[in-house]
Amino acid sequence: METPTEKLTPMMRQYRAMKEKYPDAILFFRLGDFYEMFAEDALEASQLLQITLTSRSKGDKKAPMCGVPYHAAEGYIAKLTRMGKKVAVCEQLTDPSLPGIVERDVVRIVTPGTTLDDNVLEQKSNNYVAAIVKNGDGFGLAFADITTGEFSSAVISGQKDLDSEIARLSPAEIIIPADFFEDELFVKLIKSFDSIFFFPFDGAGALSGAADFLMEYLKSTQKSSLNHVAEAKKYSLDEFMPIDEATLRNLELISTLHDNNKEGSLLWVLDKTNTAMGGRMLKHILLHPLIDKDEINSRLDAVEDFTKKHDLKDDLTFLLKSVMDLERLISRLSLGRGNARDLIGLKNSLLLVPRIQSLLAGAEASLLVKIRDMIDPLADVAELIENAICDDPPPGTADGGMIKDGFSAELDEYRSVSRTGKNFIQNLQREEAVKTGISTLKVRFNKVFGYYIEVSKGQINKVPETYIRKQTLVNAERYITPELKEFEEKVLGAQEKIVALELNIFTEIREKTVAEMKRVQRTARMIAMLDVACGLASVALENRYSKPVVNDGNDIEILGGRHPVVEKMSNDAGFVPNDAVLKNDGERILLITGPNMGGKSTFLRQTALIVLMAQIGGFVPAEKAVIGIADRIFTRVGASDNLVKGQSTFMVEMKETSFILENATERSLIILDEVGRGTSTYDGMSIAWAIFEYIHDKIRAKTLFATHYHELIALAERLPHGANYAAAVSENDADGVVFLFKIIAGGVDRSYGIEVAKLAGLPGELVNRASQILTDLEEGVMESGIQKELADANKRVPESQLQHPLLIEESERTHESIKTNATLEELRNVDLNALTPLEALNKLASIKKNLD
Ligand code: ADP
Repeated sequence: METPTEKLTPMMRQYRAMKEKYPDAILFFRLGDFYEMFAEDALEASQLLQITLTSRSKGDKKAPMCGVPYHAAEGYIAKLTRMGKKVAVCEQLTDPSLPGIVERDVVRIVTPGTTLDDNVLEQKSNNYVAAIVKNGDGFGLAFADITTGEFSSAVISGQKDLDSEIARLSPAEIIIPADFFEDELFVKLIKSFDSIFFFPFDGAGALSGAADFLMEYLKSTQKSSLNHVAEAKKYSLDEFMPIDEATLRNLELISTLHDNNKEGSLLWVLDKTNTAMGGRMLKHILLHPLIDKDEINSRLDAVEDFTKKHDLKDDLTFLLKSVMDLERLISRLSLGRGNARDLIGLKNSLLLVPRIQSLLAGAEASLLVKIRDMIDPLADVAELIENAICDDPPPGTADGGMIKDGFSAELDEYRSVSRTGKNFIQNLQREEAVKTGISTLKVRFNKVFGYYIEVSKGQINKVPETYIRKQTLVNAERYITPELKEFEEKVLGAQEKIVALELNIFTEIREKTVAEMKRVQRTARMIAMLDVACGLASVALENRYSKPVVNDGNDIEILGGRHPVVEKMSNDAGFVPNDAVLKNDGERILLITGPNMGGKSTFLRQTALIVLMAQIGGFVPAEKAVIGIADRIFTRVGASDNLVKGQSTFMVEMKETSFILENATERSLIILDEVGRGTSTYDGMSIAWAIFEYIHDKIRAKTLFATHYHELIALAERLPHGANYAAAVSENDADGVVFLFKIIAGGVDRSYGIEVAKLAGLPGELVNRASQILTDLEEGVMESGIQKELADANKRVPESQLQHPLLIEESERTHESIKTNATLEELRNVDLNALTPLEALNKLASIKKNLD
């Protein structure tokens, strides 16, 4: 039971009122040298921060309470913010030593999406706060990064797109209008997202209102102007290739599927940027592949230019390493948080800008020329700071020591008064000692009396009349003189004035610098783009990537393609390159069969990654690649369950597949790995079969379809735009199964699951038993007629195909099939162990000839 308000102490009443204003925040309530937390906040914070819970007696009740020392508060606030919590900091506004109740108010609210704390922020990631408003099926989305000033908004037509956009942004915090408190969608979102807050907003109905809503929220948390945050830039989802949540995860673009690490992701391989701004831009670019041929090629040309001009690239890299985070520096300064060190950091970085610009005189690519022209050397800003601020100023702004001599005549004068003060003391001490004949006379300073003259007891008889006694000690007497006091006023006054004047000058320089913010932000963006292009060129050279040909055609032709991450992680053994050729009017949908661990998934993913890498304007891990721009890449890979959302693995799989079938076009690339695995064999196989047909006939997207359902081999062979490929293995008595990781034409009707189980170390007895069961089953299945049924199904030509313009004549088809069967027979009879590599190649050539 809460204590009724009237029974509370005035201070607790104040606390209660404050807490009512900020119910969703943990309230840090300043009490002397501590920030205290009470009641539920205390229970939660003591647990999260691992600090001792105490209690505060309130009559016969005890209220839980805990506290942190004020000087250590930032660390605790950072910790809570990282855990997705919101903290309201309530300060004492009047002097606690005065009588009456101390006035208090919340001066700052720190939230995960609006923090400025370097301990919470990641250098190479944006820290977004997103706001969502809703109307019918539509959404208004706005997001901002107050550490860089970025602010954007979009209108989004459906929930799936909203989910994708949220996954892509990965905001640290989401704000929703309080009116939607019970909205089903948001209730779901809350369950899967750590940091969601409701905030009152009047115009929640209009989708375009998201930006205003977010701005109101930001102002309420920052309690200051947000001049550095530009007007929201409106964007539309179709400016870029959409990347849905599943694809983002499956392709491990930003982090790995298993442990969410950057290491092992595509970003990890591609990130050779040297500035924080470049790092953030690369991440953005990776999540926003382009769909416009000219834009892609202009980036590719820039990267190529750097790969060809090594000196230019190396010199630029060298300079970029010293460029600090201009975006975050200028934002911090604009929010009135920056200190003199931030100004120096800014200046030192700005001094490099003209050098960067002149280096670019050697660049030829049009994008680099454009960047060179758009870079603002900002010499005036660098000069302003250079003239005013010391090279090595202190971190605080309250104690002076920031402004250079010679910048302000007034300041110089006070400084000279203060400096001469020390000489004056020395002189005074000497003169007085001589004048009075007191050899032990000392001039000293303390906070109570200021400057005074000390004479030891033995010599006080020599003290002149003009000395005024102030204090008697055991061994000495202390005096002041009018002359001393006059001097004191001057020196102490000068010191005070120095500190105040320095703060004024610093603030003025900061404001003048911040007035040029737009120019700094633009230059920062140009430098980020340079850094990205330069980094991509380094990656290309280091890993032997090639420049892809990107066009508006409808074919994907990758020769000698590699998986950028697996290649990087595979050591001495090396990575086996593979071709992937997909043509809308030729082999369009490839069925990939072969053993477990044979390299199927790797092949599927590398194809998707190469297309994506080309469309961000980067070089690709392939000998040669011609990429007809994909409007979208869809992936359905492996079993990923979404237990949080309470859906079974199979349900998730089907939902993802259904999403693909609904949205893919003939310009899309689809990667399907093991569809239909989460249910019984025949169920799964039937679904896989039907999906294959549907994509082939209706969607006509370029597709890679990996499966263990060998029954589909006949289907792929029969369909005009289908084709069979397999991950090759060799098998012999000595070594058992050896994976070759080569994707070759033709299907493989075995999964080698038992061989893989054996390799994995399952007990020999168990493996033998499994082999026996398999044999029995295969025979049994034959008898049950299921195989026959499937064979019949294969013979049935679906109606859809009868109108198909590219349908191969039935006779030709039979002929094809005979040829293939003969070839398969020939292949079966090959004894791989008896072949030299050269013989194997010859054999391959002869087989291929047979098929032609
Ligand atoms: P599958 O999907 O057929 O079960 P994976 O694609 O998962 O097989 O590959 C299994 C492992 O084999 C990978 O983790 C990788 O280490 C290795 N691998 C795959 N493809 C290649 C390749 N082309 N060259 C070298 N190693 C490969």
